[in-house]
Amino acid sequence: MASAERLKTRIGIVGGGQLARMLILAGSRMGLHFRVFDPSPEACAGQLAPLTCGAFADATALMAFARDLDVLTFDFENVPASTLDAIAAAISIAPNPRALAMTQDRASEKTAFTALQIPLAPYRVIDTEADLANAVDALGAQGILKTRTLGYDGKGQARIRRADEALRAWQGLGFAPCVYEQLVGFQRELSIVAVRGGSGEFLSYPLVQNIHEDGILAVTLAPASDISALQPIADHYAKQIAEHFDYVGTFALEFFQVGEHLVINEMAPRVHNSGHWSIEGAACSQFENHLRAIAGLPLGSTAVREPSVMLNWIGTLPDFAAHSEIEQLAWHDYGKSARMGRKVGHATICAPSWHALRARLHTLKARAPTRQLILALSALDASN
Ligand code: AMP
Repeated sequence: MASAERLKTRIGIVGGGQLARMLILAGSRMGLHFRVFDPSPEACAGQLAPLTCGAFADATALMAFARDLDVLTFDFENVPASTLDAIAAAISIAPNPRALAMTQDRASEKTAFTALQIPLAPYRVIDTEADLANAVDALGAQGILKTRTLGYDGKGQARIRRADEALRAWQGLGFAPCVYEQLVGFQRELSIVAVRGGSGEFLSYPLVQNIHEDGILAVTLAPASDISALQPIADHYAKQIAEHFDYVGTFALEFFQVGEHLVINEMAPRVHNSGHWSIEGAACSQFENHLRAIAGLPLGSTAVREPSVMLNWIGTLPDFAAHSEIEQLAWHDYGKSARMGRKVGHATICAPSWHALRARLHTLKARAPTRQLILALSALDASN
């Protein structure tokens, strides 16, 4: 184990949403200390740690925030690269800004995946009307137009079904620089959460299955079924990326499963919504492992304790009382006000077997038949 003097125990988190909040919850019991930086005085992580308000583009404010901290990390990856460059000389940043910069732009992300020989959907970069017409010609009219920057949870995207829809769709995205991706006919959406320590130690969690609704994660089944052939492939891709970027911390890769192949969709250079199940379902959670990595501690085991289903609460929280009657259901309320499309909490249900877990979900269905629960049950039915 690293000597106590070298541990980075004073941690600054840039972005004060639910991911920061769950990092603080995991790290506080480990004796780590946190401060949070966010533009909003309402940022929910500010309920648990001192909050500094400032713009992500304000390098001076971030430098002041970083004073007296040992390491800076993120729950939000879209901090301008120029800000990161300005503060990188003053404080240790994990993961390193190169990885953040790569994921901020879908075109540079795809260039990196291509260089690492990770399969991805055919795409074209769109800067002009002619680029768009050529892309639709070359890749077909079934595709998705995505803004290169600042898209998340299905925002900044438009599905194209016919060639004559493309220009209007691009107009709807404000003619912003985009990528046009061919539509992937996938069987399932899977993701891997992995972590790399400061000394290069690499661990991954098993692939999980994700079900999205309106582009937002609704349900995660962990682990996904039938992954014995896919897991080594996902591990290989994750390890290559982590080593290429000298990455320290937790990250996620989202995939489409096409037959026995994995097609990469995108990378999140941070803890990820599809890894929330690991708080209860794994020996050491994605949050604790991120903190272990950036603090200079050895990584914890990513072994699965029990099969888990994570239900994501979007917009409003359902009735806590109805859920609290279910055995091994962990309730997570992020302390946010209700708002359409906003992630306000989640619940994870674990059980010793999938059979027992399904029974628990059916008991829950009788009390609180949320959309997420219905989606989880139908995905479970389809996977067996
Ligand atoms: P993203 O913001 O890129 O994660 O996309 C949100 C969701 O849109 C994904 O989880 C998929 O359900 C769907 N999607 C994105 N890109 C593609 C694609 N090329 N083919 C099929 N579905 C896609």
